[in-house]
Amino acid sequence: MTGPTMHPPSGDALSAIKAAAGADWTDDAALIAPSLTDWRGSYTGATPLLLLPRDTATVVAIVRAAAAHRVALVPQGGNTGLVGGGIPPADGSAVLLSTRRMNNIRRVDAAGQLLVADAGVVLADVHAAAAAHGLAFPLSLGAKGSATIGGLAATNAGGVQVLRHGTMRALVGGLEAVLPDGSVLNQLHGLVKDNSGLDLKQLLIGSEGTLGIITALALKLVPAPRHRAIGWAGVDRPQRALALLARLRLLSGGQVESFELMPADGLALVEQHLGLRPPLAAAHRWQCLVELAGPMPLDDLLAEGLADADDAVIAQSEAQGQALWRLREELPLAERRDGPAVHHDIAVPVADMPDFAEAATVRVETLFPGARVLAFGHLGDGNLHFNVRAPADGAAEWIAAHREAVSALVHELVVAAGGSISAEHGIGVLKRADLARLGDPARLAAMHTIKAALDPQDIMNPGKLYQAVTV
Ligand code: FAD
Repeated sequence: MTGPTMHPPSGDALSAIKAAAGADWTDDAALIAPSLTDWRGSYTGATPLLLLPRDTATVVAIVRAAAAHRVALVPQGGNTGLVGGGIPPADGSAVLLSTRRMNNIRRVDAAGQLLVADAGVVLADVHAAAAAHGLAFPLSLGAKGSATIGGLAATNAGGVQVLRHGTMRALVGGLEAVLPDGSVLNQLHGLVKDNSGLDLKQLLIGSEGTLGIITALALKLVPAPRHRAIGWAGVDRPQRALALLARLRLLSGGQVESFELMPADGLALVEQHLGLRPPLAAAHRWQCLVELAGPMPLDDLLAEGLADADDAVIAQSEAQGQALWRLREELPLAERRDGPAVHHDIAVPVADMPDFAEAATVRVETLFPGARVLAFGHLGDGNLHFNVRAPADGAAEWIAAHREAVSALVHELVVAAGGSISAEHGIGVLKRADLARLGDPARLAAMHTIKAALDPQDIMNPGKLYQAVTV
């Protein structure tokens, strides 16, 4: 096994790639700088060149030039990824390819309930375009104003509606991508049925830019629900939150769109750093945000479903509903403002998550005195963001000293519980060592074989996702 063996690109190689990009590139360090650090500020890279192609043909020309000179390409969309996958290595050995100018919505097929768009289209713009046709794209997350559909597909993003609609894997009907040899995989048709071989789009989804550059997507739409009911409930333990969800699912016949769990100390951070107050009078240890969506009014049903909570409120207006959502969406920002943490994005079987979260919290806080676990998120998907906040005094030093050991422990507990060390953010740089250490050997071997077959020169985002690749 060898790691990436890239060197900074030669002058000839850079000239060839610039020529392939036409006018769509910059080597101005000041213009490149904002793309070199990730959203959390955890990774900073370097690159001699930022490519800004506007169409698939230009991406093809760039990839061919990069392949001819064996230059690594790092695709980047909105740069909201949380595992360092879109940041080039610090040695300047890779060229950054941003999709931000590939931002055309090509068409909305209302009858087929499909939206076909360039990979650089921002999620919020997809929402707006679908809404104009009485339709909805049922995937949303806190970064919707910046995250691109190409990045969402490349990381198989989830978000707050997975419970009902699934992750990007379930929501991509078709895909166009430029493979490492410059050929174009054209699977944009969005066929509902296609049994003529392997479903290659699923290889690209979740591949984090390591198998090719996604240039366009056909996204599956659903009818925009005519009614929404949004509520907030307080309980003392996560087991009771899960019981509320089970009851709501039965009562509503599957109309639960979102079910998010937050601890009282996380909401206290939102109040402290953003001035937003939770709606319940008491600081219940666990609080849930629930949304039902469907063709008929749902408020009464939601109230009935939340009757077993210790306290609950139902939003009485669109504005109140949005205010409840803001509390949840701003939690990551409030946590970031409060100080550093070791972040984990974990999944275990849904029914096991409440017990797992409680037991893992005790284990981590006992073994690392002063650390405070903040576990929140998508309880109904068996996925919580299990973040371990540093003690207030000497936080940066604590993180530097304990990050690896904390993550190793959390990930070992997750794997022992039959779970995943990455529920939705991906592997990137952050988790590749733990994936190599704890992942299923047969799955990892098959992944390496596929990577080596499709990208024998290892030019697509080397050093991400895979710990090391034979080339
Ligand atoms: P980038 O960050 O630019 O890139 C991410 C990865 O995709 C990189 O490996 C990059 O190389 C690759 N990539 C990007 N574009 C392409 C392309 N066209 N072709 C091939 N590879 C490409 N995620 C969730 O799943 N659920 C959440 O609830 C959630 N909430 C979030 C909340 C906040 C506040 C933030 C900041 C992030 C959140 N995320 C969440 C993270 C999520 O992974 C990213 O928001 C999104 O999926 C990445 O899209 P992007 O366009 O920003 O991609």
